[in-house]
Amino acid sequence: MNNILHLKCLICGEEYSPDEIEYICPNHGNEGIVDVRYDYERIGQQISREQITQNQDYSIWRYQPLLPIDSNSLVPPLQVGWTPLYPAPRLAVDLGLNHVWVKDDGRQPTASFKDRASAVAVVKAREKNADIITTASTGNAAAALSGLCASVKQANVIFVPETAPPAKIAQLLVFGSTVMLVKGTYDDAFELCLEAAAEYGWYNRNTAYNPYMTEGKKTASLEICEQLDWHAPDAIFVSVGDGCIIGGLHKGLKDLLSLGWIEKMPRLVGIQAEGSNFMVEAWENGEDVLSKAPIDAQTVADSISAGLPRDRLKAMAAVNETNGAFISVTDEEILAAIPVLARGSGVFGEPAGATAYAGLVKAVNRGLVSASDRIVVLNTGNGLKDIAGAMKSVELVGTAPYRVSTNLEDLKRVMANKVGA
Ligand SMILES: *Cc1c(COP(=O)(O)O)cnc(C)c1O
Ligand SMILES: [Zn+2]
Repeated sequence: MNNILHLKCLICGEEYSPDEIEYICPNHGNEGIVDVRYDYERIGQQISREQITQNQDYSIWRYQPLLPIDSNSLVPPLQVGWTPLYPAPRLAVDLGLNHVWVKDDGRQPTASFKDRASAVAVVKAREKNADIITTASTGNAAAALSGLCASVKQANVIFVPETAPPAKIAQLLVFGSTVMLVKGTYDDAFELCLEAAAEYGWYNRNTAYNPYMTEGKKTASLEICEQLDWHAPDAIFVSVGDGCIIGGLHKGLKDLLSLGWIEKMPRLVGIQAEGSNFMVEAWENGEDVLSKAPIDAQTVADSISAGLPRDRLKAMAAVNETNGAFISVTDEEILAAIPVLARGSGVFGEPAGATAYAGLVKAVNRGLVSASDRIVVLNTGNGLKDIAGAMKSVELVGTAPYRVSTNLEDLKRVMANKVGA
């Protein structure tokens, strides 16, 4: 038993029961993304915020009545969700702000935010008795699916661009996935994966195409609000590639507003890399995201490199309906943000994770936030995911190790000459 009312197409508004369609509205090729709609009245009768707060299950499953899974569903054993929300007073002072928090999704089982969605995919696939689950990914969604599948011995086939960072490819191989390194971009891998899923009848986890991924991702908003004692923040900063995370954050907040569990809608601010700025362009120029042509995406932040953001409808709504913004930052600003975020909070993000912080810096410079705003910055991926990016980031800010021989005298010479010693 779950609380889904229907699946509603974001393009034509058609409503379907979850048994009628598996992924998308069939009227628009591969673009008919649907939204999962719930019976909030029934949810409100089943559960209260106070009951949730008492729940000792510190994972995304504490929100089961708000998720597209049955109350007796078998969930994977890995602990997904309930990542820490750290107050970051030193970062706040640096920025001239009073309240900044960093939510660290680098702490997920496979070290990125994507575990939230892949955990739901594994449950849905098992409901359908799928033999194989598949996804295309820039790397993290794949690693997440791979790890969660390993935790329940579920076969899976993964499509990633051959240029994905080695750490992410290593995760896939260690977890035992069948790995297809695609000679092309993420967008190419996505198209190939959709074709393969149709050809072989595999369960399809692809971002946006599978509407339940938004539902997994929304749990970050539910956690943020619960961790702030149900006082919603004023703004949430998050990086954007396909736009599924920002759409998911919006969904979670809409759920909480519908239930009357929070009083206001936070502004959602989506940050893109300048070389992968489809959403920023569309938002600034008022372009229709369905007809806008794909761009040629290039950025050091591989996790947000997307020429055609698959969840662009939900992403645009997330910003427009919350009075938020899309902001772009350069690769240099992204890399520079990695050590700043790490030194100011102890949270080490991969390039796409630190992108959110780079966006906050820019928003402050542009006067888009006020000092009293309560601001959450989401780190979406662990810094160890991309060591090449991390090493570039420290080089950029001029941090290098000292080389010493094995004797103390040599060390003393180095210490004496050390800048700032
Ligand atoms: C996937 C990902 C993002 C972007 O999420 P979208 O849903 O594609 O917008 C950001 N950061 C990291 C680390 C990711 O893995
Ligand atoms: Zn439709």
